Amino acid sequence: MTSKLPINPALASVPVYLGGRPIEEVARELGLPAADIIKLASNENPLGPSPAAVAAMQKVIANLNLYPDGNAFYLKRRLAEKLGVNPENLILGNGSNEIIEFVGHALLASGADAVMSQYSFAIYLLVTKLFNARPIVVAAKNYGHDLSAMLAAITPQTRVVFVANPNNPTGTVVPCDEVLRFVEKIPDNVLLVMDEAYIEFLDEPTDLLPLIRNGARPNLLIMRTFSKIFGLAGLRIGYGIAAPELVNTLETVRQPFNINSIAQAGALAALDDAEHIRKTRENNAAGLAFFERGLRELGLQSIPSSGNFILVRVGNGKKIFEDLQKLGVIVRPMGGYDLPEWVRISIGTAKENERCLTALKKVL
Ligand code: PMP
Repeated sequence: MTSKLPINPALASVPVYLGGRPIEEVARELGLPAADIIKLASNENPLGPSPAAVAAMQKVIANLNLYPDGNAFYLKRRLAEKLGVNPENLILGNGSNEIIEFVGHALLASGADAVMSQYSFAIYLLVTKLFNARPIVVAAKNYGHDLSAMLAAITPQTRVVFVANPNNPTGTVVPCDEVLRFVEKIPDNVLLVMDEAYIEFLDEPTDLLPLIRNGARPNLLIMRTFSKIFGLAGLRIGYGIAAPELVNTLETVRQPFNINSIAQAGALAALDDAEHIRKTRENNAAGLAFFERGLRELGLQSIPSSGNFILVRVGNGKKIFEDLQKLGVIVRPMGGYDLPEWVRISIGTAKENERCLTALKKVL
């Protein structure tokens, strides 16, 4: 019998998000031992979570009968200290993905527009459609954001502009002076979401925090995450930095206990694990250099990356993804991003990178 439920019609146009395939799922499907499979598909930290975070999380397990602190007092206080802002400038999300959804609740609806770049993070489009707003997708320039074209694309109906810097999946970064000029030009009635999920991998990041500290930009939301450099993707925790007024608005749509006790403890400890962050950056820089050289030797085009992944043009992305998978190497096909000739490879450990490149040579 077909359902008569009056489902929200906007849902029919929401694209399905296809994440990196889990190791266990591929193991079951191909009948391979999970231990023989490597996953370089979701821009995770190949060195694992911070050991300090693991120890801190183990400690709180005994208290899981209690609800978490809904305001995450200790985590916000430490994060604020680190960033040189006030706890009132911070909002925590179940991954920064959830913060994108808060933005949808707060600003997007039928009749509203959201501006984003071609080849940018898939969740911007997904959330825009979820709230029945109209996405305005601006053509990329050399695979990166074309900020002047994005400014020009803003209409009187535009409520949100999404920029990922560095961008996923292309790894491109917009130079500092361009970003600052862009931020200045965003109209006051448009929210600029600056998604800085990969900012900690940059040597010279554009620092937008002064604009939060001096209260100059009530329409700026900076987003960051514990999923990448901190190695806590499975914990689901990210954060937004904004003026207190905007934070208060977003707080009204946040579930009271969206950040669980384990996540609060793990993130707090990871923040101060400078050694793990240093090692992760070092491993990433070496891995990127390894792939850039190796891919060049294979005669493959890749985009210079500022993230912990690299986009490479392999011809038939889906086929190469499938063939690599049979060899126990999971990468990410890019058909869903309108880049069917490309795959995205997340940087792994030196050993994983070598295995991936060898497998790639074999399947090409
Ligand atoms: N923004 C960008 C640009 C990303 O690549 C990702 C993760 N793939 C996220 C946000 C979301 O990260 P999380 O929800 O794990 O914090």
